[in-house]
Amino acid sequence: SKWGATLAGGYTAAAASAPKELAVIDDEGPRWTFAELSHRADRLAGVLRTMGAGPDGKVAVLARNSGELVLTLLACGKLGADAVLFNTGLAEPQVLEGVERHGVRIVVADPEFTPLLTGLPSATAWLDTDRLGPLVDRAPDVRIDPPEVPGRLVVLTSGTTGEPKGARRPTPKGLSAAVALLSRIPLHARDRMLIAAPLFHTWGLSALQVGTPLRTTLVLQRRFDAEECLRAVARHRVNTMFVVPLMLQRMLALPADVREKYDTSSLRVVVSSGSALPGALVENFTEAFGDVLYNFYGSTEVSAAAVATPEDLRCAPTTAGYPPLGSRLAVLGPSGEPLPPGEVGWIHVGNDLLFDGYTDGSSRAVRHNLMDTGDRGYLDADGRLFVSGRADDMIISGGENVFPRPTEEALATLPGVLETAVLGVPDAEFGQRLVAYVVADPRAGLTEDSVREYLRHRVARFALPRDVVFAAALPRTQTGKVLKRLLLEEGWLTGERRAHA
Ligand code: ATP
Repeated sequence: SKWGATLAGGYTAAAASAPKELAVIDDEGPRWTFAELSHRADRLAGVLRTMGAGPDGKVAVLARNSGELVLTLLACGKLGADAVLFNTGLAEPQVLEGVERHGVRIVVADPEFTPLLTGLPSATAWLDTDRLGPLVDRAPDVRIDPPEVPGRLVVLTSGTTGEPKGARRPTPKGLSAAVALLSRIPLHARDRMLIAAPLFHTWGLSALQVGTPLRTTLVLQRRFDAEECLRAVARHRVNTMFVVPLMLQRMLALPADVREKYDTSSLRVVVSSGSALPGALVENFTEAFGDVLYNFYGSTEVSAAAVATPEDLRCAPTTAGYPPLGSRLAVLGPSGEPLPPGEVGWIHVGNDLLFDGYTDGSSRAVRHNLMDTGDRGYLDADGRLFVSGRADDMIISGGENVFPRPTEEALATLPGVLETAVLGVPDAEFGQRLVAYVVADPRAGLTEDSVREYLRHRVARFALPRDVVFAAALPRTQTGKVLKRLLLEEGWLTGERRAHA
C-alpha cells in the first residue's frame, strides 16, 4: 500500500515486527524502541489533531536532529499531515514567510528558535520540542487510522543560489528508494546509523527514509561537533554514518591523539553528499579511517543520481561514480544530444523519485524523462560521472569556460590549505577573472605568491586565480555549501579577514 512505503508506514511495521529493538538513540535525549516510538507518535498525532493538524493542516518543523524531530515527522505521517521542514539557518522573516506561503497550522520548534516565532499569525499554533515529552506522557491513547492520502514531506532548499524554495518530495513508490541506494551502498538491516547531516535537508531525510525499512537504530546529535561525533561512534558502535564533506574535513582536522582516543573500527560505511567531495579529502580520510567512504551525488529535485564506492574512489578520487539501480544518467549538449565521453555538458537524471515541482508551481526542465540537475559535468570512457559544478558557477574568462572545481581540487592538495572556494568576479579586460579564497593553517606560512606558484604547475593557465584572498572562514549554508554569492559581496573581495558565524 501507499502507506507501507512511507516513514509512518515503515515505523508502524517495525513496531509490529521488532517492537523491542532500539529505534532511536538521541545522544542528549530519549532512547526509544520501535514500539515506544510508534506508541508515542500515535499519542502525539492525537494531540496535533486536536490542534488542527491533518490532511488540511500542515505542520512545520524547525528543529535540530533529535528524537523529538523524528517523533513529530512520524506523528504527521500517521495523520496524513504534510510536514514542512524548515532549515535551522533561516532568519525570522524567512520563517514567517514560509509559514504563510505554506499555510502552516502548527510549528514545532526547538526552544532556541522561539525568538523567531513571536510574529506568528494568531491562527498558527506553536509547540516547543522540550514540551513534547510531558505532553505525550499526559495524552490519552488514541486510535489513529492510516490516512487515505499519506502526508508529504516538504523540504525547503537551502537557497545556495537564491531564496529558499519549497520542494515536494514524491511519496516513495514501494521500496524503490531503499533498493536504489542499497544497489551501491551496503547498508545492512539493524545497522547503527548516525545521521550527522541535518534531517531538515534532503540528504539527512533520505538516510532516515532508507533506514526505516532496514530497522536501523538511529543515532542523533543536535549539533555536529567532530569529536562528539567520533565519541558517539565509539560509544554506540555506529557502523553507518551520513555526513557532508565539511564534517569529514573537521574530523580530519582533529589532532591525531584526540582522534585516536576513540575506537571507530565499527564504521563500515560513511556516505558523503551535499557538495563536491575533494579528491584530497577522499585520500586523507581513507588513510585515517579505512576504505569506508562513499560519495553520493544527488539533489532534492532528482534524488539519487550517482554513487561512488570506495573502489571507484580508489581509481578516481574525484568521481561521483555510477547511477544506482533505477536511475538513468545522461550528459546532454546544448540541443539535448548526448555528449561523447570527456565532453562537459548538462547533467540529466531519470528515475521514479524525481520531485513533484516547487510549491510555487515552477519546476525543472525535463527532456525524454530526464530532469535537468542544474549541474554540469562529464562521463568518462568507463561511464563514471564527474561533476564540474553548478551551471551557475561557470566562469567565462577571456572567452574560456572555466569551472572552479579543478582549481579547488588542486588547492586542497597544498599542505596548510584547510578550505577553499574559487569564483569569478567581474573584470574589465577579461569579462571575469578568477579569485581563490583560502582558509589556511597560519603555521603553514602560505602567501599569495606561494599559493599561485603551487597552482602554476597544476592547473591550466586560464584556471589560475589572479587573486588569492586569505579568509578566516568561508560563509556556508547549514549543510556546509560555500555561499559564493556572499563571497562576491564587498568586504570579502577586499581581503578583509573577517570571521563568519
Ligand atoms: P539550493 O538548490 O538552494 O542550493 P540545496 O543546496 O538544499 O538548495 P540540494 O538539493 O541539497 O539543494 O543540492 C543539490 C546540489 O548539490 C546538486 O545539484 C549539486 O550541485 C550539489 N551536490 C550534491 N552532492 C554532490 C556531490 N556528491 N558532488 C558534487 N556536487 C554535489
